[in-house]
Amino acid sequence: MANKYIIALDQGTTSSRALVINQKGEILAIDQQEITQLFPQSGWVEHNAEEILETQLATLNNVLIKACVNASEIAAIGITNQRETTVIWNKNTGKPIYNALVWQDKRTVALCEDLKAKGFENHVKKTTGLVIDAYFSATKIKWLLDTIPGAKEAAKKGDLLFGTIDTWLLWNLTKGAVHATDVSNASRTMLFDINTLQWDTTMLKALDIPKKILPKVQPSSFHFGNYEIDGHQIPITGIAGDQQAALFGQTCFEKGTAKNTYGTGCFMLLNTGEKPQYSKNGLLTTIAWKIGNKTTYALEGSVFIAGAAIQWLRDGLQIIEKAQDSELFASQVNQENPVYVVPAFAGLGAPYWNMYARGAIFGLTQDTGKNHLIKATLQSLAYQTKDVLNAMQQDSGITIKSLQVDGGACANNILMQFQADILNIAVNRPKIIESTAMGAAYLAGLCVGLWNQEAILNFKKTDQLFSPSFTFEKRNRLYQKWQKAVQRTLDWEK
Ligand code: ADP
Repeated sequence: MANKYIIALDQGTTSSRALVINQKGEILAIDQQEITQLFPQSGWVEHNAEEILETQLATLNNVLIKACVNASEIAAIGITNQRETTVIWNKNTGKPIYNALVWQDKRTVALCEDLKAKGFENHVKKTTGLVIDAYFSATKIKWLLDTIPGAKEAAKKGDLLFGTIDTWLLWNLTKGAVHATDVSNASRTMLFDINTLQWDTTMLKALDIPKKILPKVQPSSFHFGNYEIDGHQIPITGIAGDQQAALFGQTCFEKGTAKNTYGTGCFMLLNTGEKPQYSKNGLLTTIAWKIGNKTTYALEGSVFIAGAAIQWLRDGLQIIEKAQDSELFASQVNQENPVYVVPAFAGLGAPYWNMYARGAIFGLTQDTGKNHLIKATLQSLAYQTKDVLNAMQQDSGITIKSLQVDGGACANNILMQFQADILNIAVNRPKIIESTAMGAAYLAGLCVGLWNQEAILNFKKTDQLFSPSFTFEKRNRLYQKWQKAVQRTLDWEK
């Protein structure tokens, strides 16, 4: 059999990327282009959907050249994407009716308050697994249809199509032939019933969204359609939202396996198996993926300020020059660190959900130096992760045995060791931390029979395994102090 390659398209919030992956799951080449962030008003965040498409296609072309791969050698394409971001376009002209409303966009907060006032909270939780929030696509769709002149009528006539970024790319790659998404992306719209795997008519009615603008929902590993390159029809056979793709890329295939991504914030997902697991601690219930007839669910929890706290050390306090320097400075504190930093810069998320909390530093003494502060800030990423992981275990009744990690800050050894110590479980940092793109590639390759799940498990190589070393007493003492610190930040702004 000739060499066969998978192309992963990774359309993220800040850039479009394309990767070429070989049959052994190795990355041969990567190409990346930044995309413009538009902030037309306070709280509004937009992307130009056409720029997203152009940069994504450009990186696809470039990466083939970089990897010296011909179209005839490509087995399939997988797509992963920034989730929830909403595009509506005219299916006759292919033109978006407005910029894409990005997941971070808060313009629909009032619409969400209205839904809550009308008593939809329970329904939303039970059917979609989510909490009512401007983050998800539903109220963004409503805003576009209500605000753009003529949009409502055009939608009702059947001239408009809605999509998250995967759907927008797929429709364009297939020259308008396929209007579809996968279950993982659909589960982030706040319009999708995660039990029946159907669009939820109650929410569509509540928001006056015509069903005909919605894409068809398919499994995550599925032949969605073809993209033609140099006369070759390349099948597009994998789609998943970025966090779910990362869970798959980290090979968290079994119930009870979890990954944590340490980026600007942290995103933790726990595979909870074939049934949705609802949360009492404000975690989200979401679809991880569907392969064949089997749907896998996940619990998701996020920490708002993680790597952003390291950026604060760099840009706010200016006590480090680069994020990487935090490791060296922190390593100079040899004794137990008496300092605690609670980076509640924007309130606290799961499991506290206190938007009035603000950041604080505790335990200062005469001999506190910048190294203590840096170490404490790093440790705050690990403590916040423990808060979320505890909530996940409580909600699911699952004991998490190890944590797979990725994202920029997982390069920090001090942080990863402390994470293992404070969780009392092993932390596994893989050699390839491109989990998101790998997840999309794995899903695509599975569908065309390039590999099976067992083979994928063998692709994964550990870069470093961090084993817990704290005694029970030490771990508890430190964590209790953290919890005490958090309690003192709550309601600060109230
Ligand atoms: P995102 O995808 O959210 O932009 P990345 O995964 O690229 O994030 O990670 C970047 C974040 O990780 C930044 O907030 C940065 O401060 C932090 N970071 C990067 N390297 C390190 C490091 N060695 N130690 C601690 N934090 C780091």
